[in-house]
Amino acid sequence: MEEDIFIDDMYHNYFKIYRFPGKNKKVLIISGLHGDEYTSILASNLLLKNIKGELEYNVSIIPIANMGAFLYRSRTSPYGGEDLNRIFPGKRNGSLCERLAERIFSIAMENDIIIDLHSCGFLCVPHMIALYRSRKDVMEITRKIDVRYVVESRGTPGQLMTEALKRGKTSLIIELPSGFGGYIQDRYAREISKSLLKFLMGSEADGEKIFLGKIEKVRSERFGYFRPIKKYLFKREVKSGERIGRLDDDYVSVNRDGILISMHYPSYIFKGEVIYEIAAYSPIP
Ligand SMILES: [Zn+2]
Repeated sequence: MEEDIFIDDMYHNYFKIYRFPGKNKKVLIISGLHGDEYTSILASNLLLKNIKGELEYNVSIIPIANMGAFLYRSRTSPYGGEDLNRIFPGKRNGSLCERLAERIFSIAMENDIIIDLHSCGFLCVPHMIALYRSRKDVMEITRKIDVRYVVESRGTPGQLMTEALKRGKTSLIIELPSGFGGYIQDRYAREISKSLLKFLMGSEADGEKIFLGKIEKVRSERFGYFRPIKKYLFKREVKSGERIGRLDDDYVSVNRDGILISMHYPSYIFKGEVIYEIAAYSPIP
């Protein structure tokens, strides 16, 4: 069943929601809270296309949550620049974006499980962001979805995941590689839509899972021309001291053993810019 939810007709401030019946708990899958994260939006659209048969979960899908930002190929709202994923639970009488947040949040609260899809940049690896250590309900869901890397995080105040967790909902984020100006990495969209379909149908996740601590953002200490070493576009497991790129004539080495979550693409980078993100192993006892 498809439904249009209008907040304001005249500003493209609306979204579509698709509902499919199932036997068990209620799941919301949402993407496009950031309008330019198109790999995750494609993942939702592929999922919509491929859903058939009896589902284990009652699922609602909102593929493009922030239509204004989507149409402007922008992360944030074109109506005042607000970041929709920093203002939850929203305000009923607030700005255009706050009213949109309020409507999305009230729908999220009708569900038991909220899966929020995002994109993490050009050279990053798909990963879940989840409060898996302190929340058993979150851990249970991360184990049911085939995404190899799981990073521990309680998120940021105002994020849909964070505010939903505070209110007792099971919630996590899946980050997918994306790119500039709406560039789509469709291989990852296909992979995740398949993982989510398997989950919704109640099949067991069978892929390997690696639990990690918090993501550390490592920033450049100086200006320079950065380029990654090619094999690290594919090789993600690194050991402390391993050289992953070059900054002018110097090597850039990782500061610990772990998983290289993302790297800057080849570019001049400035002092203080994130050069790579890494997360250490955090095995479950
Ligand atoms: Zn995002």
